[in-house]
Amino acid sequence: MKKKNDNEELNNLRHSAAHLLAAAVMELYPEAKRTIGPSIETGFYYDFDNLKISESDFPKIEKKMRQLATTWKEFEKNELSVEEVKKEFKNNEYKLELINEHAGAGEKLTVYQSGSFRDLCRGGHVEHPNQDLKFFKLLSVAGAYWHGDEKNKMLTRIYGTAFYNQEELDKYVWQQEEAKNRDHRKLGRELDLFTFSELVGSGLPLYTPRGAFIRRCLTEFVESLQSKSGYTQVWTPQIAKAELFKRSGHYDKYKDDMFLVHSHYSDEEFFLKPMNCPQHTQIYASKPRSYRDLPLRLTDFSMLYRDEKPGELSGLTRVRSFSQDDCHIFCREDQVDAEVDIALQMTKQVMQTFGFKYRYRLSTRDPEHPEKYLGDTKVWDKLESWAVKIMKRNHIEYYDGPGEAAFYGPKMDLMATDALGREWQLSTVQIDMVQPDRFELEYAADDGSKQRPVMIHRAIVGSPERMMGILIEHYSGAFPMWLAPTQISLLPISENELAYTKSIEKALKAEGIRVEVDETANTLGKKMVNARNMKVPYMAILGKQEVENKTVTLKNRASEQITLTVDETIAKLKQEITSKV
Ligand SMILES: [Zn+2]
Ligand SMILES: [Zn+2]
Repeated sequence: MKKKNDNEELNNLRHSAAHLLAAAVMELYPEAKRTIGPSIETGFYYDFDNLKISESDFPKIEKKMRQLATTWKEFEKNELSVEEVKKEFKNNEYKLELINEHAGAGEKLTVYQSGSFRDLCRGGHVEHPNQDLKFFKLLSVAGAYWHGDEKNKMLTRIYGTAFYNQEELDKYVWQQEEAKNRDHRKLGRELDLFTFSELVGSGLPLYTPRGAFIRRCLTEFVESLQSKSGYTQVWTPQIAKAELFKRSGHYDKYKDDMFLVHSHYSDEEFFLKPMNCPQHTQIYASKPRSYRDLPLRLTDFSMLYRDEKPGELSGLTRVRSFSQDDCHIFCREDQVDAEVDIALQMTKQVMQTFGFKYRYRLSTRDPEHPEKYLGDTKVWDKLESWAVKIMKRNHIEYYDGPGEAAFYGPKMDLMATDALGREWQLSTVQIDMVQPDRFELEYAADDGSKQRPVMIHRAIVGSPERMMGILIEHYSGAFPMWLAPTQISLLPISENELAYTKSIEKALKAEGIRVEVDETANTLGKKMVNARNMKVPYMAILGKQEVENKTVTLKNRASEQITLTVDETIAKLKQEITSKV
Protein backbone atom coordinates (compact mmCIF):
# COMPACT_ATOMS: atom_id res chain seq x y z
CA MET A 1 0.00 0.00 0.00
CA LYS A 2 1.54 3.32 1.02
CA LYS A 3 5.31 3.29 0.60
CA LYS A 4 7.82 5.59 2.22
CA ASN A 5 9.93 7.45 -0.28
CA ASP A 6 13.54 6.47 0.26
CA ASN A 7 14.86 9.65 -1.32
CA GLU A 8 16.08 11.15 1.91
CA GLU A 9 18.53 8.33 2.61
CA LEU A 10 19.84 8.40 -0.93
CA ASN A 11 20.19 12.20 -0.83
CA ASN A 12 22.23 11.91 2.38
CA LEU A 13 24.51 9.36 0.77
CA ARG A 14 25.03 11.48 -2.32
CA HIS A 15 25.60 14.69 -0.42
CA SER A 16 28.17 12.81 1.71
CA ALA A 17 29.85 11.71 -1.53
CA ALA A 18 30.03 15.39 -2.54
CA HIS A 19 32.01 16.09 0.66
CA LEU A 20 34.30 13.22 -0.27
CA LEU A 21 34.80 14.62 -3.77
CA ALA A 22 35.68 18.05 -2.38
CA ALA A 23 38.14 16.52 0.09
CA ALA A 24 39.87 14.56 -2.71
CA VAL A 25 40.01 17.55 -5.04
CA MET A 26 41.47 19.77 -2.27
CA GLU A 27 44.22 17.23 -1.57
CA LEU A 28 45.12 16.85 -5.25
CA TYR A 29 44.61 20.49 -6.26
CA PRO A 30 45.27 22.60 -3.14
CA GLU A 31 44.98 25.84 -5.10
CA ALA A 32 41.29 25.13 -5.94
CA LYS A 33 38.52 26.87 -4.02
CA ARG A 34 35.46 24.85 -3.05
CA THR A 35 31.98 26.37 -3.09
CA ILE A 36 28.86 24.18 -2.79
CA GLY A 37 28.08 20.47 -3.22
CA PRO A 38 24.43 19.41 -3.06
CA SER A 39 22.76 16.11 -3.94
CA ILE A 40 20.60 16.19 -7.07
CA GLU A 41 18.10 13.80 -8.65
CA THR A 42 20.77 11.83 -10.50
CA GLY A 43 23.57 12.04 -7.92
CA PHE A 44 25.54 15.04 -6.73
CA TYR A 45 27.89 17.76 -7.84
CA TYR A 46 30.50 20.04 -6.35
CA ASP A 47 31.51 23.42 -7.81
CA PHE A 48 35.12 24.65 -7.60
CA ASP A 49 36.87 27.84 -8.54
CA ASN A 50 40.43 27.84 -9.84
CA LEU A 51 40.31 24.22 -10.94
CA LYS A 52 41.15 23.08 -14.45
CA ILE A 53 40.54 19.38 -14.99
CA SER A 54 39.01 17.05 -17.56
CA GLU A 55 37.29 13.67 -17.39
CA SER A 56 40.68 12.02 -17.88
CA ASP A 57 41.51 13.15 -14.31
CA PHE A 58 38.55 11.22 -12.87
CA PRO A 59 40.41 7.94 -12.16
CA LYS A 60 42.97 9.83 -10.10
CA ILE A 61 40.27 11.72 -8.16
CA GLU A 62 38.16 8.59 -7.63
CA LYS A 63 41.22 6.75 -6.31
CA LYS A 64 41.86 9.54 -3.82
CA MET A 65 38.19 9.50 -2.81
CA ARG A 66 38.42 5.76 -2.09
CA GLN A 67 41.55 6.25 0.01
CA LEU A 68 40.00 9.07 2.04
CA ALA A 69 36.67 7.25 2.55
CA THR A 70 38.34 4.46 4.52
CA THR A 71 39.53 7.05 7.06
CA TRP A 72 36.13 8.70 7.50
CA LYS A 73 34.42 7.19 10.55
CA GLU A 74 31.70 9.79 10.87
CA PHE A 75 30.52 13.30 10.07
CA GLU A 76 31.24 15.12 13.28
CA LYS A 77 29.01 18.13 13.90
CA ASN A 78 30.63 21.35 15.17
CA GLU A 79 28.48 24.31 16.12
CA LEU A 80 30.46 27.51 15.75
CA SER A 81 29.78 31.21 15.99
CA VAL A 82 29.66 33.24 12.78
CA GLU A 83 33.00 34.82 13.69
CA GLU A 84 34.66 31.45 14.20
CA VAL A 85 33.41 30.12 10.88
CA LYS A 86 34.46 33.28 9.09
CA LYS A 87 37.92 32.89 10.52
CA GLU A 88 38.11 29.28 9.43
CA PHE A 89 37.11 30.06 5.83
CA LYS A 90 38.81 33.45 5.62
CA ASN A 91 40.63 32.54 2.39
CA ASN A 92 37.51 31.44 0.54
CA GLU A 93 35.32 34.34 -0.62
CA TYR A 94 32.58 31.90 -1.72
CA LYS A 95 32.21 30.36 1.70
CA LEU A 96 32.31 33.86 3.24
CA GLU A 97 29.47 34.91 0.97
CA LEU A 98 27.45 31.83 2.03
CA ILE A 99 28.16 32.57 5.70
CA ASN A 100 26.87 36.12 5.27
CA GLU A 101 23.77 34.85 3.45
CA HIS A 102 22.84 32.20 6.01
CA ALA A 103 23.90 33.65 9.31
CA GLY A 104 21.39 35.66 11.29
CA ALA A 105 22.65 37.79 14.17
CA GLY A 106 24.04 35.66 17.00
CA GLU A 107 23.19 32.43 15.18
CA LYS A 108 25.40 29.36 15.23
CA LEU A 109 26.58 27.72 12.03
CA THR A 110 27.54 24.09 11.57
CA VAL A 111 30.81 22.78 10.21
CA TYR A 112 31.03 19.03 9.66
CA GLN A 113 34.31 17.21 9.99
CA SER A 114 35.09 13.85 8.42
CA GLY A 115 38.65 12.65 8.60
CA SER A 116 40.68 15.84 8.45
CA PHE A 117 38.25 17.50 6.02
CA ARG A 118 35.93 20.19 7.32
CA ASP A 119 33.10 21.84 5.40
CA LEU A 120 30.42 24.40 6.12
CA CYS A 121 27.15 22.50 5.84
CA ARG A 122 23.59 22.29 7.15
CA GLY A 123 23.76 18.51 7.53
CA GLY A 124 22.14 15.44 6.03
CA HIS A 125 24.89 12.79 5.87
CA VAL A 126 25.37 9.05 6.20
CA GLU A 127 26.23 7.76 9.65
CA HIS A 128 29.15 5.55 8.65
CA PRO A 129 30.93 7.07 5.65
CA ASN A 130 33.71 4.45 5.70
CA GLN A 131 31.08 1.75 5.18
CA ASP A 132 28.58 3.54 2.96
CA LEU A 133 30.79 5.58 0.61
CA LYS A 134 31.93 2.78 -1.64
CA PHE A 135 29.72 2.77 -4.70
CA PHE A 136 30.24 6.07 -6.47
CA LYS A 137 31.37 7.27 -9.87
CA LEU A 138 32.32 10.65 -11.31
CA LEU A 139 30.30 11.30 -14.45
CA SER A 140 31.15 14.57 -16.13
CA VAL A 141 32.68 18.00 -15.78
CA ALA A 142 30.98 21.22 -16.87
CA GLY A 143 31.09 24.96 -16.41
CA ALA A 144 28.58 26.51 -14.01
CA TYR A 145 28.12 30.11 -12.86
CA TRP A 146 28.35 30.90 -9.16
CA HIS A 147 24.74 31.07 -7.90
CA GLY A 148 23.60 30.19 -11.43
CA ASP A 149 23.99 33.82 -12.46
CA GLU A 150 25.84 34.47 -15.71
CA LYS A 151 27.09 37.79 -14.38
CA ASN A 152 29.17 35.80 -11.88
CA LYS A 153 32.33 33.88 -12.41
CA MET A 154 32.27 30.54 -14.24
CA LEU A 155 33.19 27.69 -11.91
CA THR A 156 34.13 24.07 -12.63
CA ARG A 157 31.36 21.64 -11.75
CA ILE A 158 32.07 17.95 -11.27
CA TYR A 159 29.05 15.67 -11.48
CA GLY A 160 28.97 12.25 -9.88
CA THR A 161 26.56 9.69 -8.58
CA ALA A 162 26.47 7.28 -5.64
CA PHE A 163 24.38 4.31 -4.56
CA TYR A 164 24.18 1.92 -1.65
CA ASN A 165 25.41 -1.06 -3.69
CA GLN A 166 27.39 -1.93 -6.81
CA GLU A 167 24.36 -3.41 -8.58
CA GLU A 168 22.42 -0.16 -8.51
CA LEU A 169 25.47 1.83 -9.57
CA ASP A 170 26.09 -0.53 -12.52
CA LYS A 171 22.44 -0.31 -13.47
CA TYR A 172 22.58 3.49 -13.48
CA VAL A 173 25.74 3.58 -15.62
CA TRP A 174 24.21 1.07 -18.07
CA GLN A 175 21.00 3.13 -18.12
CA GLN A 176 22.91 6.29 -19.08
CA GLU A 177 24.78 4.52 -21.89
CA GLU A 178 21.63 2.84 -23.17
CA ALA A 179 19.65 6.08 -22.97
CA LYS A 180 22.21 7.69 -25.28
CA ASN A 181 21.86 4.85 -27.80
CA ARG A 182 18.09 4.91 -27.60
CA ASP A 183 17.66 8.70 -27.59
CA HIS A 184 14.33 9.23 -29.35
CA ARG A 185 15.61 12.36 -31.09
CA LYS A 186 18.35 10.30 -32.75
CA LEU A 187 16.12 7.26 -33.47
CA GLY A 188 13.27 9.51 -34.63
CA ARG A 189 15.55 10.83 -37.36
CA GLU A 190 17.03 7.45 -38.29
CA LEU A 191 13.63 5.75 -38.44
CA ASP A 192 12.03 8.72 -40.23
CA LEU A 193 9.29 9.35 -37.64
CA PHE A 194 9.32 13.12 -37.10
CA THR A 195 11.28 16.25 -37.86
CA PHE A 196 11.66 19.85 -36.76
CA SER A 197 12.01 22.89 -39.00
CA GLU A 198 13.63 26.20 -38.11
CA LEU A 199 10.93 27.86 -40.19
CA VAL A 200 8.09 26.23 -38.26
CA GLY A 201 9.67 26.83 -34.89
CA SER A 202 11.28 24.97 -32.03
CA GLY A 203 9.17 22.64 -29.94
CA LEU A 204 6.74 22.19 -32.83
CA PRO A 205 7.28 18.65 -34.16
CA LEU A 206 6.24 17.66 -37.68
CA TYR A 207 5.22 14.02 -37.95
CA THR A 208 6.23 12.20 -41.13
CA PRO A 209 3.88 9.51 -42.54
CA ARG A 210 5.61 6.82 -40.45
CA GLY A 211 5.47 8.85 -37.23
CA ALA A 212 1.93 10.06 -37.86
CA PHE A 213 0.96 6.41 -38.22
CA ILE A 214 2.30 5.53 -34.74
CA ARG A 215 0.57 8.56 -33.28
CA ARG A 216 -2.72 7.49 -34.87
CA CYS A 217 -2.28 3.91 -33.57
CA LEU A 218 -1.91 5.21 -30.02
CA THR A 219 -4.98 7.44 -30.17
CA GLU A 220 -7.06 4.70 -31.83
CA PHE A 221 -6.02 2.21 -29.15
CA VAL A 222 -7.15 4.51 -26.34
CA GLU A 223 -10.25 5.53 -28.28
CA SER A 224 -11.33 1.90 -28.75
CA LEU A 225 -11.09 1.26 -24.99
CA GLN A 226 -12.92 4.48 -24.20
CA SER A 227 -15.82 3.91 -26.52
CA LYS A 228 -16.34 0.47 -24.93
CA SER A 229 -16.65 2.22 -21.56
CA GLY A 230 -19.25 4.74 -22.71
CA TYR A 231 -17.01 7.71 -23.45
CA THR A 232 -17.94 9.89 -26.41
CA GLN A 233 -15.62 11.98 -28.53
CA VAL A 234 -16.09 15.74 -28.95
CA TRP A 235 -14.08 18.18 -31.01
CA THR A 236 -13.30 21.73 -29.88
CA PRO A 237 -11.40 24.74 -31.24
CA GLN A 238 -7.75 25.36 -30.49
CA ILE A 239 -8.34 28.94 -29.39
CA ALA A 240 -10.77 30.51 -26.96
CA LYS A 241 -11.42 33.93 -25.48
CA ALA A 242 -9.36 35.08 -22.51
CA GLU A 243 -12.68 35.33 -20.67
CA LEU A 244 -13.05 31.54 -20.62
CA PHE A 245 -9.65 31.07 -18.99
CA LYS A 246 -10.35 33.86 -16.49
CA ARG A 247 -13.45 31.98 -15.42
CA SER A 248 -11.68 28.60 -15.17
CA GLY A 249 -8.78 30.04 -13.18
CA HIS A 250 -6.18 29.16 -15.82
CA TYR A 251 -5.65 32.83 -16.69
CA ASP A 252 -4.42 33.65 -13.21
CA LYS A 253 -2.39 30.51 -12.73
CA TYR A 254 -1.09 29.78 -16.24
CA LYS A 255 -1.21 33.02 -18.22
CA ASP A 256 2.56 33.09 -18.74
CA ASP A 257 2.53 29.59 -20.20
CA MET A 258 -0.22 30.34 -22.73
CA PHE A 259 0.18 31.69 -26.27
CA LEU A 260 -1.69 34.94 -26.79
CA VAL A 261 -3.62 35.32 -30.08
CA HIS A 262 -4.92 38.62 -31.48
CA SER A 263 -7.78 39.16 -33.91
CA HIS A 264 -7.61 41.80 -36.66
CA TYR A 265 -11.30 42.54 -36.17
CA SER A 266 -11.80 42.91 -32.45
CA ASP A 267 -9.91 43.98 -29.38
CA GLU A 268 -10.70 40.73 -27.64
CA GLU A 269 -7.79 38.64 -26.41
CA PHE A 270 -7.69 35.01 -27.36
CA PHE A 271 -5.40 32.25 -26.15
CA LEU A 272 -4.28 29.02 -27.74
CA LYS A 273 -5.71 26.50 -25.32
CA PRO A 274 -3.29 24.74 -22.96
CA MET A 275 -5.97 22.21 -21.91
CA ASN A 276 -9.49 21.15 -22.86
CA CYS A 277 -11.35 21.34 -19.55
CA PRO A 278 -12.75 24.90 -19.78
CA GLN A 279 -14.25 24.28 -23.24
CA HIS A 280 -15.79 21.00 -22.12
CA THR A 281 -17.63 22.77 -19.32
CA GLN A 282 -19.35 24.80 -22.04
CA ILE A 283 -20.55 21.64 -23.80
CA TYR A 284 -21.98 20.52 -20.46
CA ALA A 285 -23.57 23.93 -19.91
CA SER A 286 -25.08 24.02 -23.43
CA LYS A 287 -28.36 22.50 -22.26
CA PRO A 288 -30.20 21.65 -19.04
CA ARG A 289 -28.94 18.41 -17.46
CA SER A 290 -30.86 16.04 -15.24
CA TYR A 291 -29.46 13.44 -12.81
CA ARG A 292 -30.49 10.83 -15.36
CA ASP A 293 -28.11 12.32 -18.00
CA LEU A 294 -25.08 11.72 -15.81
CA PRO A 295 -22.34 10.66 -16.08
CA LEU A 296 -21.42 12.61 -19.20
CA ARG A 297 -18.01 11.43 -20.43
CA LEU A 298 -16.38 13.68 -23.02
CA THR A 299 -13.08 12.85 -24.73
CA ASP A 300 -11.05 15.15 -26.96
CA PHE A 301 -7.79 14.67 -28.91
CA SER A 302 -7.63 18.29 -30.06
CA MET A 303 -4.22 20.00 -30.26
CA LEU A 304 -3.01 21.97 -27.22
CA TYR A 305 -0.28 24.57 -26.92
CA ARG A 306 1.97 25.63 -24.08
CA ASP A 307 4.60 28.32 -24.26
CA GLU A 308 7.54 26.41 -22.79
CA LYS A 309 10.88 28.11 -22.26
CA PRO A 310 13.00 27.51 -25.41
CA GLY A 311 15.89 26.16 -23.31
CA GLU A 312 13.64 23.49 -21.82
CA LEU A 313 12.30 22.07 -25.08
CA SER A 314 13.46 18.55 -25.82
CA GLY A 315 12.48 16.23 -28.70
CA LEU A 316 8.93 14.94 -28.23
CA THR A 317 9.03 14.87 -24.45
CA ARG A 318 8.99 18.66 -23.94
CA VAL A 319 7.16 20.42 -26.77
CA ARG A 320 5.00 23.47 -27.43
CA SER A 321 2.28 21.65 -29.43
CA PHE A 322 0.76 18.32 -28.48
CA SER A 323 -2.56 16.58 -27.90
CA GLN A 324 -3.85 14.59 -24.93
CA ASP A 325 -6.13 11.59 -24.59
CA ASP A 326 -8.10 13.93 -22.44
CA CYS A 327 -11.43 13.14 -20.88
CA HIS A 328 -13.79 15.02 -18.62
CA ILE A 329 -16.46 13.16 -16.76
CA PHE A 330 -19.31 15.19 -15.32
CA CYS A 331 -21.08 13.11 -12.71
CA ARG A 332 -23.02 13.06 -9.44
CA GLU A 333 -21.06 12.64 -6.22
CA ASP A 334 -22.42 9.13 -5.79
CA GLN A 335 -20.99 8.20 -9.19
CA VAL A 336 -17.41 9.35 -8.58
CA ASP A 337 -16.16 6.05 -7.14
CA ALA A 338 -17.40 3.96 -10.06
CA GLU A 339 -16.06 6.43 -12.63
CA VAL A 340 -12.61 6.57 -11.07
CA ASP A 341 -12.56 2.76 -10.89
CA ILE A 342 -13.28 2.52 -14.63
CA ALA A 343 -10.49 5.00 -15.36
CA LEU A 344 -8.00 3.16 -13.15
CA GLN A 345 -8.93 -0.14 -14.78
CA MET A 346 -8.32 1.32 -18.21
CA THR A 347 -4.91 2.70 -17.28
CA LYS A 348 -3.94 -0.73 -15.95
CA GLN A 349 -4.83 -2.40 -19.24
CA VAL A 350 -2.89 0.15 -21.29
CA MET A 351 0.24 -0.01 -19.12
CA GLN A 352 0.24 -3.81 -19.29
CA THR A 353 0.00 -3.67 -23.08
CA PHE A 354 3.19 -1.60 -23.22
CA GLY A 355 4.91 -3.73 -20.59
CA PHE A 356 5.37 -0.85 -18.17
CA LYS A 357 5.67 -1.43 -14.44
CA TYR A 358 3.94 1.38 -12.59
CA ARG A 359 3.01 2.88 -9.27
CA TYR A 360 0.82 5.80 -8.30
CA ARG A 361 1.59 9.15 -6.79
CA LEU A 362 -1.11 10.76 -4.70
CA SER A 363 -0.61 14.41 -5.61
CA THR A 364 -1.88 16.71 -2.89
CA ARG A 365 -1.60 20.39 -1.90
CA ASP A 366 1.65 22.03 -0.94
CA PRO A 367 0.97 22.75 2.75
CA GLU A 368 3.33 25.73 2.66
CA HIS A 369 1.71 27.42 -0.34
CA PRO A 370 -2.08 27.36 0.03
CA GLU A 371 -2.29 30.39 -2.31
CA LYS A 372 -1.48 28.12 -5.26
CA TYR A 373 -4.90 26.44 -5.05
CA LEU A 374 -8.47 27.48 -5.74
CA GLY A 375 -11.48 26.39 -3.71
CA ASP A 376 -12.43 25.78 -0.14
CA THR A 377 -10.03 24.02 2.28
CA LYS A 378 -12.85 21.78 3.52
CA VAL A 379 -13.57 20.61 -0.02
CA TRP A 380 -9.85 19.91 -0.52
CA ASP A 381 -9.69 17.90 2.71
CA LYS A 382 -12.68 15.88 1.57
CA LEU A 383 -11.27 15.22 -1.92
CA GLU A 384 -7.83 14.26 -0.67
CA SER A 385 -9.18 11.71 1.80
CA TRP A 386 -11.59 10.49 -0.88
CA ALA A 387 -8.63 9.82 -3.20
CA VAL A 388 -6.86 7.86 -0.45
CA LYS A 389 -9.97 5.71 0.04
CA ILE A 390 -10.21 5.00 -3.69
CA MET A 391 -6.55 3.99 -3.90
CA LYS A 392 -6.90 1.68 -0.90
CA ARG A 393 -10.10 0.11 -2.22
CA ASN A 394 -8.35 -0.63 -5.54
CA HIS A 395 -5.30 -2.08 -3.70
CA ILE A 396 -3.06 0.42 -5.43
CA GLU A 397 0.46 1.02 -4.19
CA TYR A 398 1.10 4.73 -3.95
CA TYR A 399 3.39 7.31 -2.46
CA ASP A 400 2.70 10.89 -1.42
CA GLY A 401 3.38 13.82 -3.72
CA PRO A 402 2.73 16.93 -1.61
CA GLY A 403 2.65 20.05 -3.80
CA GLU A 404 1.92 18.05 -6.97
CA ALA A 405 -1.86 18.62 -7.02
CA ALA A 406 -3.59 20.58 -9.80
CA PHE A 407 -4.75 24.03 -8.73
CA TYR A 408 -8.34 22.75 -8.70
CA GLY A 409 -7.96 19.35 -7.02
CA PRO A 410 -5.88 16.33 -5.97
CA LYS A 411 -4.52 13.96 -8.60
CA MET A 412 -3.84 10.24 -8.78
CA ASP A 413 -0.82 10.19 -11.10
CA LEU A 414 0.47 7.00 -12.62
CA MET A 415 4.26 6.79 -12.74
CA ALA A 416 5.38 4.21 -15.32
CA THR A 417 8.82 2.57 -15.40
CA ASP A 418 10.23 1.98 -18.88
CA ALA A 419 12.64 -0.69 -20.12
CA LEU A 420 15.57 1.40 -18.84
CA GLY A 421 14.07 1.68 -15.36
CA ARG A 422 13.28 5.39 -15.74
CA GLU A 423 10.05 6.73 -14.33
CA TRP A 424 7.59 8.82 -16.35
CA GLN A 425 4.32 10.39 -15.30
CA LEU A 426 1.70 9.18 -17.77
CA SER A 427 -1.90 8.67 -16.68
CA THR A 428 -3.74 10.93 -14.31
CA VAL A 429 -7.14 10.92 -12.62
CA GLN A 430 -8.22 14.13 -10.91
CA ILE A 431 -11.30 14.99 -8.89
CA ASP A 432 -12.40 18.59 -9.25
CA MET A 433 -15.19 20.51 -7.49
CA VAL A 434 -13.67 23.92 -8.25
CA GLN A 435 -14.33 24.29 -11.97
CA PRO A 436 -17.99 23.15 -11.82
CA ASP A 437 -18.43 25.87 -9.20
CA ARG A 438 -16.65 28.59 -11.16
CA PHE A 439 -18.70 27.79 -14.27
CA GLU A 440 -21.88 27.35 -12.18
CA LEU A 441 -22.64 23.97 -13.73
CA GLU A 442 -25.87 22.35 -12.57
CA TYR A 443 -28.11 19.37 -12.91
CA ALA A 444 -31.66 18.75 -11.71
CA ALA A 445 -31.63 16.12 -8.93
CA ASP A 446 -34.47 13.57 -8.57
CA ASP A 447 -36.12 15.82 -5.98
CA GLY A 448 -36.06 18.69 -8.49
CA SER A 449 -33.34 20.63 -6.65
CA LYS A 450 -30.37 22.15 -8.50
CA GLN A 451 -27.06 20.40 -7.76
CA ARG A 452 -23.44 20.82 -8.82
CA PRO A 453 -21.85 17.96 -10.75
CA VAL A 454 -18.33 16.77 -9.91
CA MET A 455 -15.78 16.97 -12.72
CA ILE A 456 -13.23 14.18 -13.13
CA HIS A 457 -10.25 14.94 -15.38
CA ARG A 458 -8.60 11.84 -16.75
CA ALA A 459 -5.82 10.99 -19.24
CA ILE A 460 -4.37 7.55 -19.97
CA VAL A 461 -1.23 7.79 -22.06
CA GLY A 462 -1.29 11.53 -21.39
CA SER A 463 0.00 13.03 -24.62
CA PRO A 464 0.23 10.50 -27.50
CA GLU A 465 3.15 12.50 -28.93
CA ARG A 466 5.12 12.45 -25.68
CA MET A 467 4.17 8.78 -25.28
CA MET A 468 5.62 8.14 -28.73
CA GLY A 469 8.93 9.68 -27.61
CA ILE A 470 8.92 7.49 -24.49
CA LEU A 471 7.99 4.36 -26.48
CA ILE A 472 10.75 4.93 -29.06
CA GLU A 473 13.25 4.70 -26.19
CA HIS A 474 11.34 1.96 -24.35
CA TYR A 475 11.36 -0.30 -27.43
CA SER A 476 14.65 1.10 -28.74
CA GLY A 477 12.78 1.82 -31.99
CA ALA A 478 11.86 -1.86 -32.46
CA PHE A 479 8.09 -1.37 -32.18
CA PRO A 480 5.78 -4.36 -31.71
CA MET A 481 3.79 -5.37 -34.81
CA TRP A 482 0.70 -3.29 -34.04
CA LEU A 483 2.74 -0.07 -33.77
CA ALA A 484 5.39 -0.71 -36.44
CA PRO A 485 4.97 1.71 -39.37
CA THR A 486 6.24 -1.03 -41.71
CA GLN A 487 5.29 -4.49 -40.52
CA ILE A 488 6.99 -6.52 -43.21
CA SER A 489 9.57 -5.85 -45.93
CA LEU A 490 9.45 -8.02 -49.05
CA LEU A 491 12.92 -8.67 -50.43
CA PRO A 492 13.00 -10.25 -53.91
CA ILE A 493 16.43 -11.76 -54.55
CA SER A 494 16.40 -10.67 -58.21
CA GLU A 495 14.14 -9.15 -60.84
CA ASN A 496 12.88 -12.64 -61.69
CA GLU A 497 10.92 -12.74 -58.42
CA LEU A 498 9.38 -9.29 -58.79
CA ALA A 499 6.05 -10.43 -60.21
CA TYR A 500 5.62 -13.00 -57.41
CA THR A 501 6.63 -10.35 -54.85
CA LYS A 502 4.02 -7.93 -56.19
CA SER A 503 1.30 -10.58 -55.91
CA ILE A 504 2.20 -11.11 -52.24
CA GLU A 505 2.27 -7.36 -51.63
CA LYS A 506 -1.27 -7.13 -53.01
CA ALA A 507 -2.50 -10.01 -50.84
CA LEU A 508 -0.99 -8.51 -47.67
CA LYS A 509 -2.31 -5.02 -48.42
CA ALA A 510 -5.80 -6.44 -48.93
CA GLU A 511 -5.59 -7.69 -45.33
CA GLY A 512 -4.55 -4.27 -44.03
CA ILE A 513 -0.93 -5.32 -43.37
CA ARG A 514 1.62 -2.54 -43.80
CA VAL A 515 4.03 -3.90 -46.35
CA GLU A 516 6.96 -2.46 -48.32
CA VAL A 517 8.80 -3.93 -51.30
CA ASP A 518 12.51 -3.35 -51.73
CA GLU A 519 12.73 -2.96 -55.50
CA THR A 520 16.27 -1.59 -55.53
CA ALA A 521 19.06 -3.32 -57.43
CA ASN A 522 20.86 -3.98 -54.11
CA THR A 523 22.10 -7.43 -53.18
CA LEU A 524 19.95 -9.46 -50.81
CA GLY A 525 22.53 -8.87 -48.08
CA LYS A 526 22.26 -5.10 -48.47
CA LYS A 527 18.45 -5.25 -48.58
CA MET A 528 18.45 -7.20 -45.30
CA VAL A 529 20.76 -4.68 -43.65
CA ASN A 530 18.46 -1.84 -44.69
CA ALA A 531 15.35 -3.58 -43.32
CA ARG A 532 17.17 -4.31 -40.09
CA ASN A 533 18.30 -0.70 -39.75
CA MET A 534 14.68 0.42 -40.07
CA LYS A 535 13.81 -2.14 -37.34
CA VAL A 536 11.08 -3.77 -39.45
CA PRO A 537 9.62 -6.71 -37.47
CA TYR A 538 9.64 -9.16 -40.41
CA MET A 539 11.43 -9.48 -43.69
CA ALA A 540 10.33 -11.95 -46.35
CA ILE A 541 13.02 -13.39 -48.60
CA LEU A 542 11.66 -14.32 -52.00
CA GLY A 543 13.85 -16.34 -54.35
CA LYS A 544 13.53 -18.99 -57.00
CA GLN A 545 12.48 -21.69 -54.54
CA GLU A 546 9.78 -19.57 -52.95
CA VAL A 547 8.34 -18.78 -56.40
CA GLU A 548 8.28 -22.46 -57.34
CA ASN A 549 6.74 -23.64 -54.05
CA LYS A 550 4.47 -20.59 -53.67
CA THR A 551 5.94 -19.93 -50.22
CA VAL A 552 7.45 -17.08 -48.20
CA THR A 553 10.65 -17.35 -46.13
CA LEU A 554 10.12 -15.12 -43.10
CA LYS A 555 12.89 -13.78 -40.86
CA ASN A 556 12.10 -11.97 -37.62
CA ARG A 557 14.30 -9.43 -35.78
CA ALA A 558 16.07 -12.23 -33.94
CA SER A 559 16.93 -13.74 -37.37
CA GLU A 560 14.76 -16.79 -36.67
CA GLN A 561 13.63 -18.19 -40.00
CA ILE A 562 10.45 -19.99 -41.01
CA THR A 563 8.95 -20.90 -44.40
CA LEU A 564 5.18 -20.59 -44.76
CA THR A 565 2.52 -20.41 -47.45
CA VAL A 566 1.13 -16.96 -48.24
CA ASP A 567 -2.09 -17.70 -46.34
CA GLU A 568 -0.16 -18.93 -43.31
CA THR A 569 1.98 -15.79 -43.41
CA ILE A 570 -1.09 -13.56 -43.41
CA ALA A 571 -2.66 -15.49 -40.51
CA LYS A 572 0.56 -15.28 -38.46
CA LEU A 573 1.04 -11.55 -38.98
CA LYS A 574 -2.61 -10.74 -38.27
CA GLN A 575 -2.56 -12.77 -35.08
CA GLU A 576 0.45 -10.81 -33.81
CA ILE A 577 -1.11 -7.48 -34.75
CA THR A 578 -4.40 -8.13 -32.93
CA SER A 579 -2.75 -9.56 -29.83
CA LYS A 580 -0.55 -6.42 -29.57
CA VAL A 581 2.51 -8.42 -28.51
ZN1 LIG B 1 27.19 18.20 4.27
ZN1 LIG C 1 -8.96 18.71 -17.57
